[in-house]
Amino acid sequence: MENATENKASSSNFIKNIVVEDLKSGRTQQLITRFPPEPNGYLHIGHAKSICLNFELAKEFSGKTNLRFDDTNPAKEDTEFVDAIQDDIRWLGFEWDGLHFASDYFEELYDRAVLLIKKGKAYVCDLSAEQTREMRGTLTQPGKESPYRDRSVEENLDLFARMRAGEFPDGERVLRAKIDMASPNITLRDPILYRISHTHHHRTGDDWCIYPMYDYAHPISDAIEGITHSICTLEFEDHRPLYDWAIAECEMAAVPRQYEFARLNVTNTIMSKRYLKQLVDEGVVDGWDDPRMPTISGMRRRGFTAEAIRTFCREIGVSKSNSLVDERNLEHFIREDLKMKALRTMAVLRPLKVIITNYPEGQTELLDAENNAENEEMGTRQIPFSREIYIESDDFMENPPNKYFRLFPGNEVRLKHAYFITCQEVIKDENGEVIALHCTYDPKTKSGSGFNERKVKGTIHWVEASQAIPADFRLFEPLLLDESKEEDKSFLDRINPSSLQVEQGFVEPNMKDAVGGDKFQFFRHGYFNVDPKDSAAEKFVFNRIVSLKSSFDPSKA
Ligand code: ATP
Ligand code: MG
Repeated sequence: MENATENKASSSNFIKNIVVEDLKSGRTQQLITRFPPEPNGYLHIGHAKSICLNFELAKEFSGKTNLRFDDTNPAKEDTEFVDAIQDDIRWLGFEWDGLHFASDYFEELYDRAVLLIKKGKAYVCDLSAEQTREMRGTLTQPGKESPYRDRSVEENLDLFARMRAGEFPDGERVLRAKIDMASPNITLRDPILYRISHTHHHRTGDDWCIYPMYDYAHPISDAIEGITHSICTLEFEDHRPLYDWAIAECEMAAVPRQYEFARLNVTNTIMSKRYLKQLVDEGVVDGWDDPRMPTISGMRRRGFTAEAIRTFCREIGVSKSNSLVDERNLEHFIREDLKMKALRTMAVLRPLKVIITNYPEGQTELLDAENNAENEEMGTRQIPFSREIYIESDDFMENPPNKYFRLFPGNEVRLKHAYFITCQEVIKDENGEVIALHCTYDPKTKSGSGFNERKVKGTIHWVEASQAIPADFRLFEPLLLDESKEEDKSFLDRINPSSLQVEQGFVEPNMKDAVGGDKFQFFRHGYFNVDPKDSAAEKFVFNRIVSLKSSFDPSKA
């Protein structure tokens, strides 16, 4: 038993264990990590996992974390993304030590490539992309050597300089590492180091028309910054020998090491910028920060807190094998975070007018209500009550089934924080639709009065009609319907047509000062966030973060 727990603890922290060892043995003097996003989209919950891992490790061991934009692919990159990524990392609660761009190293990367050529470790290759692919071989067959592999150093230096000078069109030549076309690791079969791309770069403008490949730029950038532990996701495991090759052959002074962990996947959640971008570009969602998006900005707008996201990332652990995390885990942590903090108030989503016929006309009284039944420190508030209120239309049934304890003709229920009321009459329009109820109240039953002559089984919530504030309530479902299918198969056909439903209703007047980002628990409906973009004083817009309950307990999963 003891062993099992130990194993669990160490496997969920295997990178931390490596760091501890390295600090102990003296291989590492100070831990330096980095988070290296490509500025080609907004960050998503998968990135949050990597951010928390890198920043929290460094924090724990008095180390440093750099933010480095891996901006080596100018066609897809933009400063909009650079800014958004910084905002999101700060919002998550982290501040980087160094702010860097791989493009800051373009000159040094070029010089190191020249060094590789001089050492006979790199060559300019004229094969087309297709020929290169054909000659790469397969897992079972070795690749074929390029006919340009044995060019002289002088010719390579000349051609590489002319590539840089812009003499050749896109795709005509590349610089390749000279490693081993027969290597069982395909990554080592003379990988491309530089490509020609006459593309404007968001930082370096038109200074460059050759750009380094990720597999070359990444290790060298890590080494330049003195990164000690370069943490990436599992699909880069095969690239590690190339990572080490580049650092050794480029004669970098510092020797970072790469460690891989399993990327985060969450049920019902698309976790790839490529697809998220498609949703934005096709107008399926209202931008990168649409509350349905698994982006950090979308989750923030929906109402997730940074604390909940950090706790989620920490609790799910760091693993060496790919797995799928249940989205209800994340929901669990946001409920846990808001449970004691959020003001618990009443909102009516599909309102039905109730007229309390024996309540004096023109009279309003104020009733006491606790702000959070589980947290006395949050105090109390006063809510108005009068002759006209709204209740949920779902809390009334004209012909109820057995065991329906809410309102129906002749039945008595408790109004939360107020009185018992009894339904006397159902008012309908000419089409037979119920438009209002006439009820009576019993003054003796006021909440807090200790009344105990009769019991009622149902308690319903309400808001006073004349002062209620109109609001839109956005309720969400997953954006994608079926995740079992291949991602590439008609991705846009899998969009859930009811991922967004908007209900109109009312909230208590006490909420008049709520501003974007304020979070509430609405009785029975769940946790809601005031939408920071669309909510206005005349009409609130609330995003449902999560419903109140789930049977799911992550500690038992
Ligand atoms: P995407 O496929 O969504 O575009 P990416 O890996 O291409 O993701 P980058 O900007 O290159 O995005 O990623 C920056 C860092 O975030 C990398 O270190 C990457 O490993 C990490 N990362 C990206 N997605 C995940 C994920 N789902 N889980 C954990 N880490 C991730
Ligand atoms: Mg990437």
